Amino acid sequence: MSDAHVIVVGGGIAGITCADELAQMGIKVTLLEKEPEIGGWAADYCCKATDRCNRCYVCVSDKERENVRSMGEIALLTNSRVTEVSKNGSGYIVKISRSGDVEETHADAVIFATGFTPFDARKKGEYGYGRYADVLTGLDLERMLREKGNAFKPSDGKVPQSVAFIQCVGSRDESLGHLYCSKACCAYALRMARVIRNQNPESEIYFFYMDIQPAGRLFDETLKACEDDPNFHFVRAIPSKIYQYYQKPGLMMKVLNTEDGEIEERFFDMVVLSIGMEPNEENDLLWEGASLKPGSEGFLDPQSCDEGIFLAGTVSGPKDIERSIMDAKQTVLQTLRYLEGKS
Ligand SMILES: Cc1cc2nc3c(=O)[nH]c(=O)nc-3n(C[C@H](O)[C@H](O)[C@H](O)COP(=O)(O)OP(=O)(O)OC[C@H]3O[C@@H](n4cnc5c(N)ncnc54)[C@H](O)[C@@H]3O)c2cc1C
Ligand code: SF4
Ligand code: SF4
Repeated sequence: MSDAHVIVVGGGIAGITCADELAQMGIKVTLLEKEPEIGGWAADYCCKATDRCNRCYVCVSDKERENVRSMGEIALLTNSRVTEVSKNGSGYIVKISRSGDVEETHADAVIFATGFTPFDARKKGEYGYGRYADVLTGLDLERMLREKGNAFKPSDGKVPQSVAFIQCVGSRDESLGHLYCSKACCAYALRMARVIRNQNPESEIYFFYMDIQPAGRLFDETLKACEDDPNFHFVRAIPSKIYQYYQKPGLMMKVLNTEDGEIEERFFDMVVLSIGMEPNEENDLLWEGASLKPGSEGFLDPQSCDEGIFLAGTVSGPKDIERSIMDAKQTVLQTLRYLEGKS
């Protein structure tokens, strides 16, 4: 087992965690990432601390990324897209495309940590994402808070006084065939809404939801703080459409009130669409050679893996950062057991 080589595909928090843990056990590891930098989607997210840390785990991911970057024991290849994995004797041949060249490497085991694709909010045309500047996704707000430090309306740079969050955009949606819950969006939305309230005590938050899915430490405390805040309004209703009238400020939202069945019209300065996770659109490139199959929701099914192939993180279904780390650690244990059995 000491000379075993493991290839980890995908340098998000799950892949980084696998590479780190395997290297610490003395296993030869290569971490492949198609982007110029490792970190995955979480590298774009903001700190969601208010008067205290709200345990969003983003800094844990940032720290682990820096740690792996500086670890000499891990062969880190960025700008390296894995295009095919095929069986070769008792191991695998991994095809890697790098700046126009295709290379092949042998591995005794391969861990897929290729993650997810954020839901494309343009598919919900009724919410006007891409047409109205002040309709943002949760990912846009993450990036805005990380890069600029505060929330502002993209249309005029002003601080929004009223912000609506629409939950379950792209998840739990029969019309899209996505019945699953994305598990991280209630927590990230509530935490970012609290950041907005903390930055601007005059602001009002309207939180449109069907169900609240707890995720992560301190979730109950965060939810309670929102419930106790008089400027934070939970509305159990499904917004049906967003309009912007010519030369009129603000966004008009039509909302079906599920309690009395009436359609109401409400106005907001900014709307945040809490997008969820879809299966990584590139997974189908990798399925064939490694005999991987999607489960019913399109994420890869761990039960379908050939021996020596393992999955870590959101490639097998939606998870927050903390759960992706736990899943990666579990995958490392399975991989070690497999390598021990081979030697
Ligand atoms: C808008 C939004 C906000 C969120 N905010 C939070 C939060 O505040 N806290 C929290 O706990 N969770 C949050 N999450 C969830 C969080 O994003 C995930 O838990 C985490 O990113 C999962 O990590 P991962 O490594 O599984 O996948 P990813 O982050 O998707 O990483 C996968 C990596 O694999 C690479 N890759 C893919 N295909 C290939 C290939 N063929 N070859 C080589 N490399 C490849 C990708 O480039 C990427 O770097 C949020 C989710 C969303 C959608
Ligand atoms: S866990 Fe999140 S809220 Fe807490 S310090 Fe880290 S990034 Fe900030
Ligand atoms: S985590 Fe919340 S917003 Fe996201 S799909 Fe589940 S219930 Fe909807």
